[in-house]
Amino acid sequence: MSGVDKALNLIFLGPPGAGKGTQAVFVTKEYGIPQISTGDILRSAVANQTPMGVKAKRYMDDGLLVPDDVVVGIVEERLASSDCDGGFILDGFPRTVAQADALGAMLKGAGRAVAHVISFEVDHSVLLGRLTGRRMCRSCGRGYHVLFDRPSAEGLCDACGGELFQRDDDKEETIRRRLDVYDEQTSPLKSYYADKGLLRKVDALGTIESVQSAIQCILVGR
Ligand code: AMP
Repeated sequence: MSGVDKALNLIFLGPPGAGKGTQAVFVTKEYGIPQISTGDILRSAVANQTPMGVKAKRYMDDGLLVPDDVVVGIVEERLASSDCDGGFILDGFPRTVAQADALGAMLKGAGRAVAHVISFEVDHSVLLGRLTGRRMCRSCGRGYHVLFDRPSAEGLCDACGGELFQRDDDKEETIRRRLDVYDEQTSPLKSYYADKGLLRKVDALGTIESVQSAIQCILVGR
């Protein structure tokens, strides 16, 4: 395939806790494109104790990045699925320049291209509070927050009644390491994509609704 790829191929770029997953849910509903979270795929591999999950677990528990070849393989396989033909949201990938290069090569080889890289701009000082308050449903994976997005019944998921838990890597010491890793290895992707004319910044400090409408403006080209 050659020519311009019109699919809504999106990358959500931002530190942990910036709200990428929350916003991806809205965009998925609005545009019918899948959210591809490498973190979710890895957590499921860990829970199922697959060979990949066993390998990834020690990096994730320490707040470090899983090796590039592992995550690139996950994404390559996932993007080949037909539900990605009309577009996709990459949430948490790429996280290194090597991953971004690999993504570029795999998309180019398939006649595809990134439409927008949405950069969630947020001060690190607020992220610690956001992340330590985060809870997740053990059954369906839906996210909550003890202050900003509480479930109706304490400790239980509104959507499926599953038990809410705190991710191991949302503990303070690990969060600090994840933020350092973001600064060192992932933030250079902002200039990488700005140089390609793909970077669109949103102020991720606002309300969920204001971030949502900022993203909507980008997607409809306003
Ligand atoms: P997340 O849910 O996106 O915060 O990811 C949780 C953890 O999964 C990260 O701290 C990493 O250990 C691992 N991970 C997720 N995505 C990637 C990626 N693109 N590259 C390397 N490691 C990743």
